[in-house]
Amino acid sequence: MLRDKFGRSIRDLRISVTDRCNFRCTYCMPKEEYQNFDFLPKNQILTYEEISVVVRTLIPMGLKKIRITGGEPLLRKDLAKLIKMIREQDDSIDIAITTNGVLLSKYAHELAQAGLSRVTVSLDSFSDDLFKKMSDSNYSVNEVLDGIEAAIECNLPVKINTVVKKGENDHEITDLVEYFGPLGIPVRFIEFMDVGTKNEWRIDEVLTGSEMRNLMSKKFGKLESRKDSHPGQVSNDWTFENGWQVGFIESISNPFCSDCNRARLSADGKIYTCLFANTGHDIISLLRMGATDAQLSQAITSIWSQRDDRYSELRDAENPIEKVEMSYIGG
Ligand code: SAM
Ligand code: SF4
Ligand code: SF4
Repeated sequence: MLRDKFGRSIRDLRISVTDRCNFRCTYCMPKEEYQNFDFLPKNQILTYEEISVVVRTLIPMGLKKIRITGGEPLLRKDLAKLIKMIREQDDSIDIAITTNGVLLSKYAHELAQAGLSRVTVSLDSFSDDLFKKMSDSNYSVNEVLDGIEAAIECNLPVKINTVVKKGENDHEITDLVEYFGPLGIPVRFIEFMDVGTKNEWRIDEVLTGSEMRNLMSKKFGKLESRKDSHPGQVSNDWTFENGWQVGFIESISNPFCSDCNRARLSADGKIYTCLFANTGHDIISLLRMGATDAQLSQAITSIWSQRDDRYSELRDAENPIEKVEMSYIGG
């Protein structure tokens, strides 16, 4: 089994299928930074066939899980075709998608038919005003809720991702738990992270997982940590006594680099070995020069075996470094 310098394997691949998005979330793609932005031209974006080759190469190396992300993945044409191509290679691999949800009611059925395993929908607020403010868009919360409903109707398991910014949407976290808890839909609360360099991240806007749990247990009672997580899982999962489930992605207060087994494939065909990396490893050139599977496998082995990333454990909030943007390599 392929291991990096700290003995971590490649279990999970995040694939960014586009760097474009129909939202301008203030913590990810702030409008001021992205209004005259040079997005990738089509010919520099990996085709589905090229993505499939990378997946085919990684499966024998221990790949178990794929997350399709972006940008907003549902903006990419015929996404179901990619899901089908991956599913045809491996009928047991877990294929998830992370989406802002506004196009999900349109595509849930064809994605499920193509072999998608699950969906994560991002939702930061139930209030239309705050939702519009945080996503800097004109979409409404109901469009996201319609997407969630469509996914459920197609029997796709759903999770919610909520980025929590102190002083912005922290007063809504109990509302989200109260709404999704009884539906059996886990909400994963994400500490506001210092991804990229454009979101004006400040540590004093981070509400930690433990602060969130305190707020929640005051309202809903005791929370118990669940022990059924597998190595490399990003979320710390907890359950209330009534069975409602919540998770916390505590990249700032409780880093989880030691068993991080995630590789990222950017829309323009580079492999990143950390969400906070500043450079990627060029794969698209190899693919377009006609590399064989064996040559590709050799290149990825060399990249992964030299990996020693552990950014969140070393984070120095006072001295930020150059990092790639999250919309480009996928969350
Ligand atoms: N557009 C899709 C979406 O929003 O679900 C997929 C891509 S988005 C980059 C993936 C995830 O990253 C989303 O759940 C989003 O909320 C999260 N995210 C983006 N910027 C973040 C930040 N600065 N801190 C924490 N999470 C962030
Ligand atoms: Fe778009 Fe997702 Fe980033 Fe929001 S978090 S701007 S929806 S890519
Ligand atoms: Fe993995 Fe990098 Fe995040 Fe650490 S900081 S958990 S190495 S992606």
